[in-house]
Amino acid sequence: MGTAVDAARKELIGILQTNNKKFIVVFVLGGPGSGKGTQCAKIVEHFGYTHLSAGDLLRAEINSGSENGTMIQSMIKEGKIVPSEVTVKLLQRAMNESGNDKFLIDGFPRNEENRAAFEAVTGIVPEFVLFFDCSEEEMERRLLNRNQGREDDNIETIRKRFRVYMESSLPVIEYYNLKGKVQKINAAQPVEEVFESVKGVFSKVAA
Ligand code: UDP
Ligand code: MG
Repeated sequence: MGTAVDAARKELIGILQTNNKKFIVVFVLGGPGSGKGTQCAKIVEHFGYTHLSAGDLLRAEINSGSENGTMIQSMIKEGKIVPSEVTVKLLQRAMNESGNDKFLIDGFPRNEENRAAFEAVTGIVPEFVLFFDCSEEEMERRLLNRNQGREDDNIETIRKRFRVYMESSLPVIEYYNLKGKVQKINAAQPVEEVFESVKGVFSKVAA
């Protein structure tokens, strides 16, 4: 008894928190295999942000046995974009639970609907967008070489993810580019060299 009410209350408090706190958000975008997760881990160490990978949050949601789990799992396997209401809720919850006020949101927003929903629900606009620019050949090579047991790191799903990225995610990057918010990084280099460029951006922006 009361658990549904408690859950609803907790969620409402969470929403009020996100909307009132001055959260700083950097969107980290780039194709699958462009190095977002790797570089985010390094940014966390040096600059004190909390890293929120939308893909990781969705995979955790599958593993938690949530009622949305089956739907999320089949969308990831097809390389499709999960409905915004699911992803935005997970991001908002993670922000409120983190205790931090600075976030790297990795792999989101992936389409125009994601972008508009996040902004409408949280009232947050990103400080800037960190964009990892990398050729498809290099990204494909990295994805096929990494072995994290992911169901979507096979050539068939990778091709679908590239297509969704080109058709749906690049327009979001272009949207922010027109607003002068994109910091573009050459991501087709070794990890340490890419991080040198990333450090340059964060030192400049945080100064
Ligand atoms: N995904 C999604 N919405 C998001 C982030 C991820 O629907 O905001 C799904 C989508 O199916 C995507 C998959 O999760 O292909 C893996 O995303 P992740 O960011 O982990 O992988 P990346 O493409 O960066 O390698
Ligand atoms: Mg990732």
